[in-house]
Parts: sequence; C-alpha cells; structure tokens
Amino acid sequence: MNTDVVIVGGGPGGATAAMFLKHEGIQSIIVEKEEFPRYHIGESMSGEAGGVLRRLGLEAEMLSRRHPVKRGLTVYGPSGKTSWFVPVMARDNNWELYPQSTWQVHRQDFDKMMLDEAVARGATLLPGRATRPLVGDDGAVRGVEVRLADGSMVEVAADVVLDCSGQNTFLANAGVTGPKYLGSYDKQIAIFSQVVGAIRDEGPKYGDTLIFYQQKYHWSWFIPLDDETVSVGVVIPSAYFLDKKESKRDFLLRELQEINPECQRRLAEIELVEDVRVIPNYSYQVQGFTGKGFMCLGDAHRFIDPIFSFGLYLSMWEGERAAQVIKGYLNGANRDAANPFTEHELFLEKGIDVLEDMIDTFWEYPLAFALFMHQRYRELMLDIFAGRLHERQPSEALLEMRRLLKRERGYDKPGEYSVPIGSRYRPERAPIWVATDVEYD
Ligand SMILES: Cc1cc2nc3c(=O)[nH]c(=O)nc-3n(C[C@H](O)[C@H](O)[C@H](O)COP(=O)(O)OP(=O)(O)OC[C@H]3O[C@@H](n4cnc5c(N)ncnc54)[C@H](O)[C@@H]3O)c2cc1C
Repeated sequence: MNTDVVIVGGGPGGATAAMFLKHEGIQSIIVEKEEFPRYHIGESMSGEAGGVLRRLGLEAEMLSRRHPVKRGLTVYGPSGKTSWFVPVMARDNNWELYPQSTWQVHRQDFDKMMLDEAVARGATLLPGRATRPLVGDDGAVRGVEVRLADGSMVEVAADVVLDCSGQNTFLANAGVTGPKYLGSYDKQIAIFSQVVGAIRDEGPKYGDTLIFYQQKYHWSWFIPLDDETVSVGVVIPSAYFLDKKESKRDFLLRELQEINPECQRRLAEIELVEDVRVIPNYSYQVQGFTGKGFMCLGDAHRFIDPIFSFGLYLSMWEGERAAQVIKGYLNGANRDAANPFTEHELFLEKGIDVLEDMIDTFWEYPLAFALFMHQRYRELMLDIFAGRLHERQPSEALLEMRRLLKRERGYDKPGEYSVPIGSRYRPERAPIWVATDVEYD
C-alpha cells in the first residue's frame, strides 16, 4: 500500500492530523490497533484545545453531544477551605482577553467521534498494529509494517510516518528517535476511575475541573463527564502507594476520603462505575523526535505532569501544525536536509517547555505561584493555562518562573535542549527509559 502520510495511532492526535492533512489535500492512512470505542484517560480540555476543535468546524457537534462545558478549574488548598479559580480565557485580535469555554469528554465517545470524522473527511482507516518502521539504507523512514487482525502482514509505504501512538511511543521503542528519558516527578503514579453520586457545583461552574491539593506530588482530580458521571483520580509518589499495601480500589476509595476535606465532602457517597486503573511512571521525553521521513506527535514524544490538562491540546494542536509542515515538505521544503523537520521540533519543544516550567513552579514554589496567578502576572498566567505557548513568549511571568527555578533554557543545540523533565531538573541524573514492548517479528 502507498500513501502520502501513514499515521500510527487513531487517537485525538492522529485523527486531528488526518483531518488537517486532508484539508491540505494530503492523503493519509491511519493504523489503529484498538477497536473504537475504547476507554482512555485524559478527559479535560484546555481552552486552546477547544480552539482546535472550533477550527476543525466541530463546535456544533461537540455541543450537540452535550459534553460538559468547562469554563475553568478550581484548585483547593490542603485545608479545603481556600481555593483559587482559573477561568478559561481566549484572546481576540487585539490581544484582549475574553471569557471562553472548552469541554470535558468521555474519551471513548470523543475519540470515536474524531476518528469517524477523520474517515468521513477522507482518511483511510487500517485496523491493525504497526509492528515496525520501514527504514531505508540511508536511514530515512519510508513507512511501516502492519499486522492486521487476521494475523497477515502488510507494508504501508509513505513519504512521512507520523507517530501518534501515545504512550506506546512506537518510533522511540523501535530506536528510530533519540533516547527517551524518564521524568522525575518523584515517580508518580495515577490511580483513577469514574463515579456517580458526587456533589457538583451548580450554575456556570457545573462542568468545571476541580483539583484537590494535599502536598507536593500528592493531589486528586474531579472532572464532570456527564450529568451523572465524574472522573476521579489520585496522583501520588509510587513509594507512598506501595507503603499502603492496599489494592488499587481500596487505595483510591480511601484516598478520596482522606486527601482533602473538600474532596471528602464532594465524594462522601459515591459508587464506582468503571474499573480502577493505574498508570505508573508516566512522564517522559523523547529527544530527536523528528527526522528524515518521520515525526512524533503528542504523547508519542513527550508527556508532562497532567495536573493542568494539557495532553489533548498538545496532541491535537501538534496535529494541526504537523499538517502545515508536512505540506511544505511534500512541496519540496527541506527535502534534502538531514532532518527536514528540525525547526518544527524546536518550535514544539519551546512551547512544551513553557508548560513544564509553569508546572514545576507550581510544585516547587506554591506561594510564589499563587502570587503570580492572582496578582502579579494574572493575564500572562491565564495565557499559559489556556495553552498560548508561543505568541508573546517568553513572557515576564515565564522569565520570573525560570529565575525562581534557576533554569536556563538554551535552544542553540538541536537535540540537546530541554532535557530532562521534572522539577528537580538534573540532566546528569535523568534516567534513560528502556523499551520493553518492542515488536520486531
Ligand atoms: C493520569 C492521566 C491523566 C490525564 N489527564 C488529562 C486531562 O485531564 N486532559 C488532557 O488533555 N490530557 C490528560 N492526560 C493526557 C492524555 O491522556 C493524552 O495526552 C492524550 O490522550 C494524548 O493523545 P494522543 O492522540 O497523542 O494519544 P492516545 O490518545 O494515547 O492515542 C494513541 C492511539 O494509538 C494507538 N496505538 C498505539 N500503538 C499503536 C501501534 N503500534 N499500532 C497501531 N495503533 C497504535 C492506541 O491504540 C491509541 O488509540 C492524562 C494522562 C494521564 C496519564
């Protein structure tokens, strides 16, 4: 089989990329190993994620599906008595802020809607698992090999392989990219499920995200998914979980009662309606995630602490941007360069570094963070929360956070910048992740 772009993974990143590619007249084949609908974590969107959906023309569809409208997020302090609110705000053409909204989604519904829409707009879906990249003698990636549901193998040749495989990090596992570093947010793990019977806010905050802070790296989330169901989860250092010697179900239910008085009040009489799931050690960063014939997108190259819900936005926005860059490449831009996508890679790293620096300031300097958020740099902080990561960056607020973190971001050595992840930021200690589930058969 032949196509312009083969996309590994039909999650929101892959589906968005396929839609924007089609808009540019570029054909794609999406290889997806799971049958949709399927469960997925990551239900709360940032403001600019809503913006990507609007640019795709999907606002009316999102409203008709009655996904809860999110107008902001509230973070409760350890006592449960104090809280701060971050409204979703967009910028108009004069760079003035105005209130905007975004959505919370059941991922099984949302991801299916996105994949169906990509196919309806002209992408081809190839159900199966990409097993390995096809690499030419010159080292360029030229396509992927796919195992179909009946066990047969097929090769898909393409000008560009777009790795949208999420935490599976397909190309990093295959050794095509640079190294993959583990993050160092105290080896956090997330344990989560969905519940009914939770106490929600009424009025405009009905669909908002709530975050309950207990102490550094120890927090829980509350994300309304429909009129009955709320997604709940706790994030803790893994050593803390292991010390408790509880099943993940018992651990989750107890923590939700103990983590924060406001969380306890809202979840006093809940019933679990989903399996309890766990994701360990989940932050990482892949270096050299673009190259001749390939590009990784979203979770396939970088995953940072999800406390402020940036994952979906990054995957979808990177999909939008990838379409532009690939269009240029197919028209001849940088065709003979060792890496045609160097600039694109640097651009993305710079943007995600903004988020990482903000999140690290939140963990390391909570009081300064609150001061920036409420008084000194409120508007600039709202920009970062919404996902405006390039225009007018680095802002004064960002530079101040970097000063506090004693962090310099240098971008003059491609492939060597912004490693590693995590608020301790000690490059020499960043552990390299070792692939465990590579398939070369
Ligand atoms: C605990 C936790 C909480 C989070 N909370 C939020 C949140 O509130 N808001 C938010 O925006 N984000 C959140 N995230 C992040 C969010 O889940 C991800 O960023 C988002 O799903 C990334 O989308 P994606 O399209 O890149 O990857 P995915 O959604 O993971 O899609 C990847 C797809 O690729 C397919 N695939 C993988 N390998 C192959 C292969 N070899 N062949 C074929 N198909 C393959 C998979 O089946 C999957 O469908 C959270 C993450 C965690 C861990």
